[in-house]
Amino acid sequence: EDGGLIVSFGEMLIDFVPTVSGVSLAEAPGFLKAPGGAPANVAIAVSRLGGKSAFVGKLGDDEFGHMLAGILKENGVCGEGINFDKGARTALAFVTLKADGDREFMFYRNPSADMLLTPDELNLELIRSAKVFHYGSISLIVEPCRSAHLKAMEVAKDAGALLSYDPNLRLPLWPSPEEAREQIMSIWDKAEVIKVSDNELEFLTGCEKIDDEAAMSLWHPNLKLLLVTLGDKGCNYYTKNFHGTVGAFAVKAVDTTGAGDSFVGALLTKIVDDHSVLEDEGKLKELLRYACACGAITTTKKGAIPALPTVSEVHGFLKE
Ligand code: ADP
Repeated sequence: EDGGLIVSFGEMLIDFVPTVSGVSLAEAPGFLKAPGGAPANVAIAVSRLGGKSAFVGKLGDDEFGHMLAGILKENGVCGEGINFDKGARTALAFVTLKADGDREFMFYRNPSADMLLTPDELNLELIRSAKVFHYGSISLIVEPCRSAHLKAMEVAKDAGALLSYDPNLRLPLWPSPEEAREQIMSIWDKAEVIKVSDNELEFLTGCEKIDDEAAMSLWHPNLKLLLVTLGDKGCNYYTKNFHGTVGAFAVKAVDTTGAGDSFVGALLTKIVDDHSVLEDEGKLKELLRYACACGAITTTKKGAIPALPTVSEVHGFLKE
């Protein structure tokens, strides 16, 4: 079967993760290099799950940038939409693992190459060939990547792609919470599929109670599917005609990084060739069970990209 192309737009970076937790960045005895960036994770998730995948974004023309481009390529993700900036360097995140399991980030982005993608540099031919165009990153924050983001969305939409959005709110990256909310809401009514986490729902609505009413307050007329991910409680889904919950799989989670991206990758891989799932609750629930399985598997291994499952892993997991 010849699947339609899923294009993911946004940033890709390297997380430097300390080899021990509970110490400051300066005291860490060593770091592991973990490639990440939500849109890039989604691009790889799609490809591992058998979908046709491309990534659009900008990397530094440095060792890290070429390493990341290599990782996309190894994973079967089309790199024709990748630009390399001659001056700025690849984005980096330095992680502190706190004793309570929380993570703190320090970013190298002043500016990093991903922020310098211009509208003129976009590979429009590639974007026009997308059947699904997925975005969800901090590329809304500053120019010129903000204009590139808006143009890419428009071009994909005009060419008939289904637009999929995951705000991926990482508040420390935004100038202020107000600006984050404003910028996210400025593109809210363009997407036909939106995935938010329960925390993002709380942030965007200002509601403390994460219920159907809070979710539906974010509904807009172009929307076909709204998903609220709930970690080990699964996800809630909302369409124009029905809504409900799909429970999570019980697993021993060791690192939840990338679970949401794995979930989205699975969802898009299934939707790209069959939009009827958006109107058929039975089909949608089956799809979301698959997506929850992908999310669950991803939590059982360390890191995001190394933990993204292949089709056969998911089938094995679902048979157990
Ligand atoms: P996000 O990155 O959006 O916050 P979540 O952490 O909610 O994403 O994870 C996405 C999906 O992955 C969830 O809907 C769930 O199905 C699955 N998942 C996440 N954490 C766990 C967990 N601890 N146990 C089982 N499944 C999980």
